[in-house]
Amino acid sequence: MSGFPDGFEIDVGGQVFRPLRVQTHTKAGAAVVIPVVYWQTECADCGAVMELFTLLRFRHPRRRCDACAAPGKRVRPAGKRRAA
Ligand SMILES: [Zn+2]
Repeated sequence: MSGFPDGFEIDVGGQVFRPLRVQTHTKAGAAVVIPVVYWQTECADCGAVMELFTLLRFRHPRRRCDACAAPGKRVRPAGKRRAA
């Protein structure tokens, strides 16, 4: 039970994020417990299924998996991928 309605998903420029669960995240060294949402999506470059978490405010989610990480590089529009 993620706490989200069945079928809930967020589309960011053609990349779909589906909520997996809400969990608390303890920041190292800080006495605060932050609720975060875990999402499943497919890497914007290679399509690998990956998990990431965001704060409850959904801003600037990661678009790529660790192998494709390219901070600052624009993600190609969905539909023009997986040509290789
Ligand atoms: Zn990738």
